[in-house]
Amino acid sequence: MLPQLPREPIRPEREQLPDDKEIWQPDWRCFCCQDTGTISQNLSRSIVPDYDPHRDKRPACQHPRCEAGRLLRGDFNYDQRFTAGICSQLDALAREDWRNTVKAQQKRLVNLNCVKSLRQRPRTPDEEVLAYHKHQAALAEANSVRVVPQMEEVVDA
Ligand SMILES: [Zn+2]
Repeated sequence: MLPQLPREPIRPEREQLPDDKEIWQPDWRCFCCQDTGTISQNLSRSIVPDYDPHRDKRPACQHPRCEAGRLLRGDFNYDQRFTAGICSQLDALAREDWRNTVKAQQKRLVNLNCVKSLRQRPRTPDEEVLAYHKHQAALAEANSVRVVPQMEEVVDA
């Protein structure tokens, strides 16, 4: 029974496929306000197209399960018109956006690894011949190096 060994890769760093941990993805509970209580300029503009963050009240998040938004509810320093229904839709929209972003990043990383592994293709016949000659030359060199100490031993004797 011969011993069984695992593979010993020449380039271990190229063996690792990217996993989700390498890709940053948000862990917000509320994607409508990113747990800040107020809705970002981008999302706000999908409801108020000409929303001006310098002149308009910042919309408060009214997503039914949003803790941060709950603190701003009824505070008229903030735009209170973004209802629970609107915020739920914005939350779903932002989640979908992030899912797509993460998917695109994963795809890019996998492609990157494919490009890397292409360079690890087997040798072409020409490269095989070249490698053989290099190997023979190295062997000859090794042999000639070994000859020298033998001659010195002869001289010593
Ligand atoms: Zn929220």
